[in-house]
Amino acid sequence: MKSLETLYSKIKNGERINSEEALNLLTHGELLDLADAANQMRKKLHPEPMVTYVVDRNINYTNICSSGCLFCAFYRDSGNPKGYVISEESLKQKIEETLSLGGTQILLQGGLHPGLDFDYYLGLLSYIKSNFPIHIHGFSPPEILFMAEQSGLSVTDTLKKLIEAGLGSIPGGGAEILVDEVRMQLSPKKYRSEQWLDVMRKAHQLNLRTTATMMFGHIETKEQIIQHLMKIRDLQDETGGFTAFIPWTFQPDHTRLNVKKATAVEYLRVLSVSRLFLDNIDNIQASWVTQGDKIAQASLFFGANDLGSTMIEENVVAAAGVSFRLPKEEMIRLIENAGYQPRQRDCFYNLVEGE
Ligand code: SF4
Repeated sequence: MKSLETLYSKIKNGERINSEEALNLLTHGELLDLADAANQMRKKLHPEPMVTYVVDRNINYTNICSSGCLFCAFYRDSGNPKGYVISEESLKQKIEETLSLGGTQILLQGGLHPGLDFDYYLGLLSYIKSNFPIHIHGFSPPEILFMAEQSGLSVTDTLKKLIEAGLGSIPGGGAEILVDEVRMQLSPKKYRSEQWLDVMRKAHQLNLRTTATMMFGHIETKEQIIQHLMKIRDLQDETGGFTAFIPWTFQPDHTRLNVKKATAVEYLRVLSVSRLFLDNIDNIQASWVTQGDKIAQASLFFGANDLGSTMIEENVVAAAGVSFRLPKEEMIRLIENAGYQPRQRDCFYNLVEGE
């Protein structure tokens, strides 16, 4: 096994590390050494002393879901009185508010609702695009696979129709850990790793950019975290379609999964190894939604160059009892206090003029 010093100098020289080396860093690296290496790599990729963020809102069009993932506190079964499908009025009001707050996009996501057909999703996109000048970042791979099943279309044809109706990019939700052994325990009814990757591959082939995520801190092992990163890196080598990687920690409250919450140190270790391993993904996003503002600030010294969304509204993590809020002014203050220039960006990491 190579010494950690050898690994750090390999990274410094711009050489790629392999899975075994990444696992060695994740297991044995000193926290501050990992921070130093990740921060240097981040500076190499983003020499400007700038941290980006996006102003948007999560809109969950339904919470009814047939998947029943063990880790999810958000979904409701069909027939549950707390189940909903968003009304046009509520959708309109949420988008108008987002635009009035300088928002540039919405994140549109929902459960796998057995009562909605493919036309519902196409209608949703067309309604938004014909009424509002806003980018739609929407429908994670499980939702797209579900729509393909409902409609009988191939994944590529499903994506083509969604793009035609106004879909602008895809979030990396539903990845959790891309190892089927883990998925079979957490979400046996949900789609397998290869299917998640295949939706992303096909989206990238259609020039639809996407993000990649990882939810960790539950039943996975360190080896499985690295396997997840490897699958993302391999696909990025193939397509180049991922704009960013967003690792975040599982929030156990109100879920059926009884595990201890990952610590901030565990989060920062995974964040920095992600920066070091994913040498082909430009942006690493910190998760203030799960970590809070102080750790989000620390993340900027552990490889993250982006703080993600101000999230005018967020429901999924909030359902698990975690609801940090971060208005735009607070986001700006937090970035400035960490010694960086805050810059608003769009979904493709273009800076928003006049900000
Ligand atoms: S994580 Fe998504 S797919 Fe799983 S139960 Fe929750 S809403 Fe449904």
